Amino acid sequence: MKTRAALFHAVGEPLEVAEIELEEPRPDEVVVRMAAVGICGTDLHQVRGEFRRPTPMVLGHEGAGVVEEVGEAVTMVRPGDEVVLSWAPSCGECAGCRRGRPATCRPLNAAIPNGTLPDGTTRMSYRGETVYRGTATGCLADRVVVTEKVALPLVGALPFDQAALLGCAVLTGVGAVLYAAKVVPDASVVVIGAGGVGQFVVQGARIAGASTIVVCDPVDARLEAARGAGATHVAAPDDLRDLIRSELPDGADYGFDAVGDPATSATALRFTRDGGTTVIVGLPAQGLRLDLDPFELIRKEKLLTGTLYGSQDPAISLPAMLDLVRAGRLDLASTLGPSFPLERVDEAVQASLAGEAGRVLVVP
Ligand SMILES: [Zn+2]
Ligand SMILES: [Zn+2]
Repeated sequence: MKTRAALFHAVGEPLEVAEIELEEPRPDEVVVRMAAVGICGTDLHQVRGEFRRPTPMVLGHEGAGVVEEVGEAVTMVRPGDEVVLSWAPSCGECAGCRRGRPATCRPLNAAIPNGTLPDGTTRMSYRGETVYRGTATGCLADRVVVTEKVALPLVGALPFDQAALLGCAVLTGVGAVLYAAKVVPDASVVVIGAGGVGQFVVQGARIAGASTIVVCDPVDARLEAARGAGATHVAAPDDLRDLIRSELPDGADYGFDAVGDPATSATALRFTRDGGTTVIVGLPAQGLRLDLDPFELIRKEKLLTGTLYGSQDPAISLPAMLDLVRAGRLDLASTLGPSFPLERVDEAVQASLAGEAGRVLVVP
């Protein structure tokens, strides 16, 4: 089967929208006609050359669409079902999955840097050459073939643009707060970075009942959006120290780094109170290292950890997020940025690189 897809070839080159070859679904796979795909920070890492992954690669791992076709063994969805794609299906069999830590799934963590699906294949080609999959998905395309575990049913009406965000930014950001850090009511939280994921960390903190939510970002429009999402205080990086001194002189109970740069991770740790927890949510460029004073962890007993995809099996966290949306506690509509058709995918990437406050979407 053929599909149009946005191919990333090399840093500095525009994405090429080309007709590629997609293998027919296996018995446990489905064909999804994509309706909306968000541009995520991970895609931008690839575009900027901060990840070394094989090319040509179809980027995109945050999408929603309609099931078009199902393999004979598929039981969870039917043609016509609206679904959101998760990029982290728990294999259920490796040591990590058996310990209840789906984010540590071995096949998944091998697939992502190799540009494949968890089974090691990509099932896509262009002019006879293998085409790789961004974040084990590769859905910046009209159609994608994935296992049924990845196509999670969207029960109840939700516009596709909003639904797409559930697939990465929401599960990552809200999940970091609710499942990884387990923020408690009345806690204080500092969030470094108010991009797509950061905005959902802020919403997660509000949902968890945090009483003080301090957000830091260099972009004013993002700080404004963070206020709408539930931030009680916002600051540009240069003003953060003074703000924390006046509002949280002991530091925050929880510090979240939604950027993932070593400098922002250090900032999140620094403004976490003694005995508090710092969580790295954003991904750094490949190869970077943290430079930390171990006394922060020893004498101050701070806990430093990281989270991938909200540290929860998406089959569990997605329905929970849908419940929050229905209850009016999780707002997706106001987090949307501009949308572009697939043939203008490069403009979408540029808008996202430029720091657009809302999530930029491609609508194939
Ligand atoms: Zn993502
Ligand atoms: Zn596994």
